[in-house]
Amino acid sequence: MRRVIFEAEHEQFRDSVRRFMQTEVAPHAERWRKEGMVDRETFLKAGAQGLLCVFGEERFGGAGIADFRFDQIIIEENMRHGDIGFYINLHSDLVAPYIHKLGNEEQKQRFMPGIISGETILAVAMTEPSTGSDLAGMKTRAVKQGDHWVLNGSKTYISNGILSDLVVVAARTDPHKPHGISLFLVERGMAGFERGRRLEKMGLKSQDTAELFFNDVKLPEANLLGEAGQGFKYLAQLLAQERLVASIGFLATAQTAFDLTLEYVKERRAFGKPIGAFQNTRFKMAQMRAELDMAQTWVDQCVLLLNEGELSAEDSSAAKLLTSELEARVMDNCVQLHGGAGYMEEYRISRMYTDARISRIFAGTSEIMLEIIGRGLGLDERKLN
Ligand SMILES: Cc1cc2nc3c(=O)[nH]c(=O)nc-3n(C[C@H](O)[C@H](O)[C@H](O)COP(=O)(O)OP(=O)(O)OC[C@H]3O[C@@H](n4cnc5c(N)ncnc54)[C@H](O)[C@@H]3O)c2cc1C
Repeated sequence: MRRVIFEAEHEQFRDSVRRFMQTEVAPHAERWRKEGMVDRETFLKAGAQGLLCVFGEERFGGAGIADFRFDQIIIEENMRHGDIGFYINLHSDLVAPYIHKLGNEEQKQRFMPGIISGETILAVAMTEPSTGSDLAGMKTRAVKQGDHWVLNGSKTYISNGILSDLVVVAARTDPHKPHGISLFLVERGMAGFERGRRLEKMGLKSQDTAELFFNDVKLPEANLLGEAGQGFKYLAQLLAQERLVASIGFLATAQTAFDLTLEYVKERRAFGKPIGAFQNTRFKMAQMRAELDMAQTWVDQCVLLLNEGELSAEDSSAAKLLTSELEARVMDNCVQLHGGAGYMEEYRISRMYTDARISRIFAGTSEIMLEIIGRGLGLDERKLN
């Protein structure tokens, strides 16, 4: 279905992003998968092309464009023509907004130029070995000592964990309140900040996912982000965008899987005809086409709502829930339609299948999405009892 939210300037931008992904990202993807990490230089190249933080203020080297359709285009083109492990979206759309929106003037001046140029690669660390969905159970602690904070604890499953230069770390600062969490800016090279091993994963092989350790890391007051104790409020404020970013990526991946499968079923033959000529194939492809178009229309609408500052946590949670489920169904159907080839690493669909399994887990599991949507309906056990 023709998408109606883009204007000519967006389409031109899409062409240039596509060229970047085809020339600067895709040719390295196979090597990155083997090395378990993307090249740091690719972030610099993306920065030079103006593809990092398009919303960034002009005085820091950004384009100053607060139109999320541009971000959407970057995510879509990276998924389709670049590499799923190149976490340009985590950098620009999930972590940079913490500093852009919550940072004080000094922090913005210190960090935003490097973030926009790609010199400073970002990560966000919330999950811990003992807690992920239930962030109120966080054990990493920061204690105020005179004019600085002392951070102790560990985080796990952190995307860009090895590559990152600046990490937004959530830590408990009030031991008496379950939501007594604050956010800190932890910099590469700080004494006591160590990276653990790069974790081996089922998919997303080129994305470095790692453990982080904090042993008496001395953080100046200047590295506290926003106000102490307000971490949960800040996380909640940014979650709507985070889940929409995830949804855009899931859908772009599913669309890509659909397209390459459509080509495959037109060529592969069985019983004397292309497998696309079987009614089962035609119906499966038709069903997917209809569901993808429906989801795309909805996600596009969410992008417009985000632009207007009106995307709710429930809306974006619903988008994350349904696009990740649709992506899973599409991947499964597409592997099936490829037959044995779909199980072979040399076929892109095989990797896409394992890459996609995480979509229903990270950025909040499907069960947590249902909780959020359900609570939005007033179905909250704490309030109903
Ligand atoms: C590849 C990858 C990259 C990641 N990147 C990052 C990152 O950059 N930064 C970061 O901080 N984290 C990251 N994560 C962590 C991710 O966000 C968590 O894994 C996720 O939130 C789930 O937490 P958990 O693993 O602790 O699972 P758990 O919370 O232990 O959940 C286990 C199961 O219990 C269910 N469950 C939990 N609570 C409820 C409930 N109330 N009702 C019903 N069911 C429930 C869950 O839905 C799930 O099915 C990443 C994870 C992976 C695998």
